[in-house]
Amino acid sequence: MLKVNVNLCVGCALCAQVCPQGAISLIGGKAEVDTSKCDSCYWCLEACPRGAISELIIVSPEELRVTVSTLKRQTDDIIKRINRLATKV
Ligand code: SF4
Ligand code: SF4
Repeated sequence: MLKVNVNLCVGCALCAQVCPQGAISLIGGKAEVDTSKCDSCYWCLEACPRGAISELIIVSPEELRVTVSTLKRQTDDIIKRINRLATKV
């Protein structure tokens, strides 16, 4: 799901011009995305000169726990490899 940071949006409408789905409107000088029309091509993210559009990824606590645990395991593995290499030098 896309979110427009209204504090960054300057209402230039570049995002609306590139959107192939006509999913972006300027309301009160700020971009708004109609998520029911959006097909997630992300052209608007690339077009915005202010970085005002970002994607919100909603994850459950369980998905977050698994991701953090996997990253921790991978980090521990990398540290072990670095330590092994350091002892050989
Ligand atoms: S391109 Fe960015 S700054 Fe311009 S209207 Fe869209 S969101 Fe706002
Ligand atoms: S991701 Fe693509 S379809 Fe969705 S609002 Fe942006 S430009 Fe339009």
